[in-house]
Amino acid sequence: MAVSVFDLFKIGIGPSSSHTVGPMRAANMFIAQVMSHNLQSRINSIKTELYGSLSHTGRGHGTDKAIILGLLGEEPDTVDPDRIPGLLEQVESEQKIQANESITLQFKIKKHLVWHKRKKLPLHSNGMQFTALDEEGNELLRKAYYSVGGGFILAHSHMAKEHIMEDDSDLPYPFTSGDELIESCNKNNMTIAQIMYANELTWRSQTDIEQQLDQIWQAMESCVQRGVKADGVLPGGLKVARRAPKIYRDLDLKSEKDLADPLTVLDWINMYALAVSEENAAGGRVVTAPTNGAAGIIPAVLHYYKEFVPDSNQQGIRDFLLTAAAVGILYKTKASISGAEVGCQGEVGVASSMAAAGLAAALKLSPDEIENAAEIAMEHNLGLTCDPIGGLVQIPCIERNAMGSIKSINAVRMADRNDGTHTVSLDKVIKTMKETGDDMKEHYKETSRGGLAVNIIEC
Ligand code: SF4
Repeated sequence: MAVSVFDLFKIGIGPSSSHTVGPMRAANMFIAQVMSHNLQSRINSIKTELYGSLSHTGRGHGTDKAIILGLLGEEPDTVDPDRIPGLLEQVESEQKIQANESITLQFKIKKHLVWHKRKKLPLHSNGMQFTALDEEGNELLRKAYYSVGGGFILAHSHMAKEHIMEDDSDLPYPFTSGDELIESCNKNNMTIAQIMYANELTWRSQTDIEQQLDQIWQAMESCVQRGVKADGVLPGGLKVARRAPKIYRDLDLKSEKDLADPLTVLDWINMYALAVSEENAAGGRVVTAPTNGAAGIIPAVLHYYKEFVPDSNQQGIRDFLLTAAAVGILYKTKASISGAEVGCQGEVGVASSMAAAGLAAALKLSPDEIENAAEIAMEHNLGLTCDPIGGLVQIPCIERNAMGSIKSINAVRMADRNDGTHTVSLDKVIKTMKETGDDMKEHYKETSRGGLAVNIIEC
């Protein structure tokens, strides 16, 4: 089992990696299956059924739109967010989906998109099933997929065989735990970033790795730049106003006065996180890091590094991303990065932990200190439930990204001031996170049937 940095950091669209990016990719995969079974001359329509959390919060998360876009052949990293409303209107008015040159599907939304609120597929809360039908309604092909967080998709057959990942590449420096990772660093006299870089060479060249890391950072920067300019109210009906643009204008105008307040840096970090999370909530272009709900944290902490840390540089940004990914891989493979599986500790908690590790690496802390920072950031996110109001990735998600960003930076400062000894290891906190998530009642796991989602009245 091997996971790349670029499996964790993917350029996509908001608002949700599990409920938007994942279903879009699953729809792409099903069309590819239809083609590989040579069904293009017989297929007339595709029925998509959504189960569990996908059904509970899918409308707010844009799952229906994502499925239609996926069936249209659009992909999360290349679809133009500005074209999406037009594409959806066309499907609705024509009641047809042009999947590719050889497949035209009949599509009536109520008939071909079915929400099963009271049912779950057996292996994960985010289940969906696609059925290809001929003109008489006879079944030609059926496939179930699970969206397991961070835009990762697994076919039912792979889940059933407990194949967590499909890639079995041999890596030069494999690790399956935080302890193994640190041991490998110490034994080989390498940093975590160097270990990740060497592993990444399994899949791509040096030039490609660096270009792709830089593209991820540029996408994060662009997202902040768009987020601070886009005033207005977020879609979905909660009437949540964007806050990042006003904070940005205030900070930009009052910079001299603000120097008297040393905590102004917190306003900047909050603003970066809000800008990205608001873009995500609006369905804009974001980097899944490691999920969309928590997509604001790593960009916010990276901007803090770039703008506020003396001598910050491009190598520091690359080391940040590589190290954050190493920690993300541990959560992905040992626990979960899915709010529907373990609550928001799996999204905001994991992103905070990854960002803490990344910042610690950019600041050249030792592998032990990086592990400590990652552990601290998660330890104080344990038990964080997923309870988005109205099924929208807005409240509490947007502010939670700002809080998670500050927590990451504080974790690094605490680890840096520590003498190196700590009682709770990263591995133990990952294990605890998984067990806590397993024990959490279902309604706290991205169903919008618990927590803030039921105590705040939608108007
Ligand atoms: S509450 Fe957390 S896990 Fe749930 S949708 Fe919001 S960011 Fe994601």
